[in-house]
Amino acid sequence: MENYKPDPVFESLGREKGAPFYDPVTAAAFPEHHVRYRNQRWAEKVGLGGLTEAEWIAHFGRFEPLPDNLSAPVAIRYHGHQFRTYNPDIGDGRGFLFAQLRDDRNRLLDLGTKGSGKTPYSRFGDGRLTLKGGVREVLATEMLEALGVYTSKTFSLIETGEQLYREDEPSPTRSAVMVRLSHSHVRFGAFQRLAYEKNDEAIAALVDYCIAQFYPALNSKSGEARVAAFFGKVVQHTAQLVAQWMAAGFVHGVLNTDNMNVTGESFDYGPWRFAPVADPSFTAAYFDQTGLYAFGRQAEAGAWNLAQLGGALSLLASADALNEALQSFSGAYEEAMAEAFLRRLGIERKGEGDFAFVANFLKWMTETGAPYEQVFFDWFCGSASEERAAKSPVAELYGQDKFSEIRSALTAATPEKPERLAHEYFNAPKPCTMLIDEVEAIWAPIAEKDDWSIFEKKLEAIAAMREAHDFAASRFSP
Ligand code: AMP
Ligand code: MG
Repeated sequence: MENYKPDPVFESLGREKGAPFYDPVTAAAFPEHHVRYRNQRWAEKVGLGGLTEAEWIAHFGRFEPLPDNLSAPVAIRYHGHQFRTYNPDIGDGRGFLFAQLRDDRNRLLDLGTKGSGKTPYSRFGDGRLTLKGGVREVLATEMLEALGVYTSKTFSLIETGEQLYREDEPSPTRSAVMVRLSHSHVRFGAFQRLAYEKNDEAIAALVDYCIAQFYPALNSKSGEARVAAFFGKVVQHTAQLVAQWMAAGFVHGVLNTDNMNVTGESFDYGPWRFAPVADPSFTAAYFDQTGLYAFGRQAEAGAWNLAQLGGALSLLASADALNEALQSFSGAYEEAMAEAFLRRLGIERKGEGDFAFVANFLKWMTETGAPYEQVFFDWFCGSASEERAAKSPVAELYGQDKFSEIRSALTAATPEKPERLAHEYFNAPKPCTMLIDEVEAIWAPIAEKDDWSIFEKKLEAIAAMREAHDFAASRFSP
């Protein structure tokens, strides 16, 4: 436990001075514990890699406190707009903050749960997570990390031996409890709740917490400028997050304000999907009938949510100052799109014209219906992949006239670290993907015969992709 650096700072917010941020809760007692996924790579980075299986279960299945950490788990309070309707009844309804620690760069990390039992915010829910939901969250986080998206990591998944009933799944279905590792769990909705309660003092305390922990460069600012600068940071990081989802071909599915973090870190994976092609109307959640959170509308959703956060912060800063920050979204988004797409394509930034290239590229992707991941795979590092692209299963697309402008731009660009192409991952004809039929094909043998081999194999394939890409996952983090 050499690198284990506990630092339960959330407790410092306290419950005094009318600062209502959380409620102490207890974890459910589960009948069984079977470790189904242990993120050893990240466990080692935070000094928990040496835990025995029994210790792992004690902490991440029975939630016995980690040394010098939170004495009891806390359910975090928040509200949120769900599909644009304000809901003042939500909060951590099946999760809690379990522990906080510092990473190898001394940044604060939370260990939060999903499926750990009922809390004061469970409403009609059972406080539980289905095993399938947990498996899906592992797959989403592993893929997104490999694709260079700033995402929470799934730290642990333990099957818990209960039978759950869900309207939208064959029931009864198996249960699990998950632990996620994330730089904070401060949602836009936490600010919304405090604004709803007209608790200016608590909003100021939460802004101070966020600046101290995530945006320390703003520490010298005071008053209204401090609040507006904090908001500006959240605007910028949210724009970057959406751009990264776009470059990954990812549809989060439920972009409610309670699912957006002030650090711009992607988290809480429910009905997510990867888009097979660049179809702006591609929607992940079956219950999103209007396509509010469709692939091509994620930037709009991010901006709308930011406007709600700005509304909450308007108790402390003038509308003008906050609006100015909000207006920076579209510029930040263009810059972030250029950055995210060029990084994924493995080519260096030129500066001016980068966004125009990305817009053109996406237009071509949309019009041709080219397989999303395949194109990035085929053209990784631009000119350095010309021969590979010529042998692609979709090489015919690259011979068409309408591709010529994009081909010229791709091959004129400077490849970024082209030595990455030496990785065996790039020798295969096809990339690693995670389309919905693949997700179902991973789940089916688990459900039918408790066969985890396809799941394990997929995790290996994703690890190879992550190593091959070698994106510095921290590039966008605060
Ligand atoms: P989500 O759509 O997963 O972000 O959840 C929205 C809200 O519903 C959050 O407050 C969750 O804590 C709560 N919730 C979701 N599923 C359950 C459940 N099975 N039991 C209790 N609360 C839940
Ligand atoms: Mg949520």
